[in-house]
Amino acid sequence: MTAPEPALHVRGVVLPDGEERDLYAVGGRLTYERVRGAETVARGGWVVPGLVDAHCHVGILPDGPVGGLDALAAQAHTDRDAGALLIRDCGVPVDTRLLLDRPDLPRIIRAGRHLARPKRYLRGLGIEVEPEQLPAAAEEQARYGGGWVKLVGDWIDRDVGDLAPLWPADALHAAVARAHALGARVAVHVFGEEALGDLLAAGVDSVEHGTGLSGDLLDAMARRGTALVPTLVGVDNFPGIVGGASKYPAYAQRMRRLHAAARPRLRAAYEAGIPIYAGTDAGGGVEHGRVGDEIRALHAAGLPAERALAAGSWAARSWLGLPGLVEGAPADLIVYPADPRADLSVLAQPTRIVLRGRVVHRPR
Ligand SMILES: [Zn+2]
Repeated sequence: MTAPEPALHVRGVVLPDGEERDLYAVGGRLTYERVRGAETVARGGWVVPGLVDAHCHVGILPDGPVGGLDALAAQAHTDRDAGALLIRDCGVPVDTRLLLDRPDLPRIIRAGRHLARPKRYLRGLGIEVEPEQLPAAAEEQARYGGGWVKLVGDWIDRDVGDLAPLWPADALHAAVARAHALGARVAVHVFGEEALGDLLAAGVDSVEHGTGLSGDLLDAMARRGTALVPTLVGVDNFPGIVGGASKYPAYAQRMRRLHAAARPRLRAAYEAGIPIYAGTDAGGGVEHGRVGDEIRALHAAGLPAERALAAGSWAARSWLGLPGLVEGAPADLIVYPADPRADLSVLAQPTRIVLRGRVVHRPR
């Protein structure tokens, strides 16, 4: 049996409103009503809703699946200590349901396993199906119950020697419709240009990476409200990924071009009004714990600092169905010693991290 949690008190400037207030955490929930005897754990800082890594793989290592609960938890702890108190897992080959009830770990919204065609994704990660099996596979992942289904939209086709779409339009329409009918949303991995038209027309809910987005597609995406998770710290691996791909020169050249265009295209997406969220793509080629780097990268690419912070905090929480720091909300917050809207580098120096009403990280 565990002892009841003591109540906590934080005083600081609460974002995004910017008002200085007293917050209390009792039983894992926030209240603005004074709680006698609450322990003051921070006073005088800036209080931000827990950060969000909206594209993260707790369950993947550079060489394949993570084995064992301790190793999974270690990845999630690294994300948590960087401030990511909510993670949208964007596809993992292992069952992470045992992580969901652990009070020491960030909240995780699952997407089940990647859906790809045979030989058209990283080996061992996805479920491989042909297009006519895609709707049933999407239904199976939706029933798995994480709230999201992850599709691989394009990947290198070694017969062509370049990126190419995986799915015909009719299979995409049917798969997305099936997932939506079961209440799940659909996230799609896409690097290049060609796959995007059919994916957007099929009604996917989020474009992951999205380095091929430009022109008319921007308006189509903005009109539909389709989200973009640009994973800039992951996209910065593109030149390294193709460094040794001399067997496929067209592919290598394409990936370098997509990398070079990623930031101007992201800025254009922002200006078109597309909702943008912070995701690191941690797990494969990216270390866990880099959500602050991604938020800074969004800002450096052209989002105003407050919008970049929102993309990795309150706006992303709202998109994923969690409230900000309102009365009765889950007590997931971070205190910083200075205003992160004025200087995002402060994200690397939290004063306190409070998850489910408990201080989980007191930096030295
Ligand atoms: Zn990913």
